[in-house]
Amino acid sequence: MANLSKLQEEVLAYDQKYGWEGDKESHIALHMAEEMGEISRLILRLEGYKHEEYSKKALAEELIDLLYLTIKLGNTAGIDLEKEWYSAFERYEKKTSRKELKK
Ligand SMILES: [Mg+2]
Repeated sequence: MANLSKLQEEVLAYDQKYGWEGDKESHIALHMAEEMGEISRLILRLEGYKHEEYSKKALAEELIDLLYLTIKLGNTAGIDLEKEWYSAFERYEKKTSRKELKK
């Protein structure tokens, strides 16, 4: 079982500690794009496209940075991520079913 509600509480508490809980959604989204850039660069290293040192630990940290911001955006936008997590699988199942019908 996911415990996204607890993670949302933890992220909110951390943001409140530093006065970041009022950050704008647009700024959070821009930071998410920044993290995706960092993740992408590491993937290019992983696959050998970029001849720079790859670090699994660095990729893990960037994924967590993105997750943190995803949860933070959920908080700011008033979204219950725990509830949405499970409804997402229903959506995915419908998409999968559609693909199978095309075969
Ligand atoms: Mg980062």
